[in-house]
Amino acid sequence: METPLSCRNYIDGQWLSAAAGNTLQSRNPALVDEIVATFPRSQADDVDTAVAAAGKAYRSWRKVPAPARAEYVFRVGELLLQHKEELAQLVSQEMGKPLTEARGDVQEGIDCAFYSAGEGRRLFGQTTPSEMPNKFAMTVRMPIGVCALITPWNFPMAIPCWKAMPALVCGNTVILKPAEDTSACATKLIEIFAAAGFPPGVVNLVHGMGEEAGKALVEHPDVDLVSFTGSSETGAFVGATCGRTHKRVCLEMGGKNAQVVMEDADLELALDGAVWGAFGTTGQRCTATSRLILHRDIKEKFTAMLHERTSKLRLGAGTDPDTDIGPIINEKQLQRVNEYMNIAREEGAKVLIGGEIASEDSLKNGYFFQPTILDDVTPQMRVAREEIFGPVVVLIEVSSFEEAIAILNDTNYGLSSSVYTRDINRAFTAMRDIEAGITYINGPTIGAEVHLPFGGVKQTGNGHREAGTTALDVFTEWKSVYVDFSGNLQRAQIDNRS
Ligand code: ADP
Repeated sequence: METPLSCRNYIDGQWLSAAAGNTLQSRNPALVDEIVATFPRSQADDVDTAVAAAGKAYRSWRKVPAPARAEYVFRVGELLLQHKEELAQLVSQEMGKPLTEARGDVQEGIDCAFYSAGEGRRLFGQTTPSEMPNKFAMTVRMPIGVCALITPWNFPMAIPCWKAMPALVCGNTVILKPAEDTSACATKLIEIFAAAGFPPGVVNLVHGMGEEAGKALVEHPDVDLVSFTGSSETGAFVGATCGRTHKRVCLEMGGKNAQVVMEDADLELALDGAVWGAFGTTGQRCTATSRLILHRDIKEKFTAMLHERTSKLRLGAGTDPDTDIGPIINEKQLQRVNEYMNIAREEGAKVLIGGEIASEDSLKNGYFFQPTILDDVTPQMRVAREEIFGPVVVLIEVSSFEEAIAILNDTNYGLSSSVYTRDINRAFTAMRDIEAGITYINGPTIGAEVHLPFGGVKQTGNGHREAGTTALDVFTEWKSVYVDFSGNLQRAQIDNRS
């Protein structure tokens, strides 16, 4: 077994242990005896040090011209490209996703770097006519200050990049608090940011428990903005705390995403989409397909096709090239998925395939769950309403397109959605009527690209969008500037009226 990586915090350009010296461990979820990394169990005093460093660095970083700030981010993209394979291996080892997906995770960071870097030469404001003569009016974007970035384990490369890169280009300084399960990934990522040469204190990393380091960051009076991706429960706490302490806050939380398959759909294509959407990343994506809404005319046939394809999926370590589905991230999450099987059975759903913890041969050394299809599910059942975050998909039968859209919308969440149909009128009706931040026509619910807004409606978020140019709205505030070159006092609404 390899020696575990010894990870540290990165504060003010230095690699530091937690002041109290305590550590935690991350493990390989496919081989739980393997410790991947040890990392600091930071407390409020470590957070204080990081916030002070980020606050000090902000004073000069905000004045670095945006195109120059963007060049650092561009360099991060180049370095990520150079180290793509070793980073992907680490993602597979520490988080469990298959290597092809892990490469995609790193690639998303690279795409985000090059896209965000381009924004350094745009960051457009507006000019607009003044109502007064000899007066100039414009808007400019201002950075916000110290940004706390709290991230989950399912995209340990992409999500920190989505947050940090636009934040930095906009002139903010950042403190990343990554998920406990992927501390090695976060450390390697921040090593790359460090190698790109940012001035000390501009980029910081604080490891630790959510309820300790994370909470201390969210409550800290000198943190100006919190960008959070994670569970709805934690998001509610983060949102409430930020409300109480008057911080800007961007929340990206759960989903209960549905794929509709109509009777006129290309069923093979819909099948490819359903398998990838439901079981990609072991169903541990906030955009995963967890409901399949099937028209009754194709339900039986499509279900048989899905059953057959699912039965062939191979479980295994993400680092094994033959693996289709990797492990669940940790014991707690494995038990949670398993518990939903009891809930499903009690509610009258039928387990078509899967439904059990997988423990044959080497799978017993990790947190594996069989890919699962639940049939006879009605929209009111808990398994049709609550986010399970595992390789579980429920089947719901409908009799019409209108019913399909109504059931798709009948959820507290609103992140991603998908409709398979060859009818152009239905496609456009779906695009208009679906209540979600993302809609795919003839594509699965997963597959976001970095130059489009990412986020959801209802309880998925709080109205923000990450990625795209919309990320700039998260990490900047607008200032309206008026320049009066008349040499006189000109009173708006008064001096231009008789
Ligand atoms: P999950 O249940 O998938 O672990 P969480 O929402 O708990 O999702 O975790 C997402 C991120 O939020 C992680 O980095 C975690 O450490 C952090 N976190 C958890 N609890 C808190 C909290 N009370 N305050 C701030 N951050 C937290």
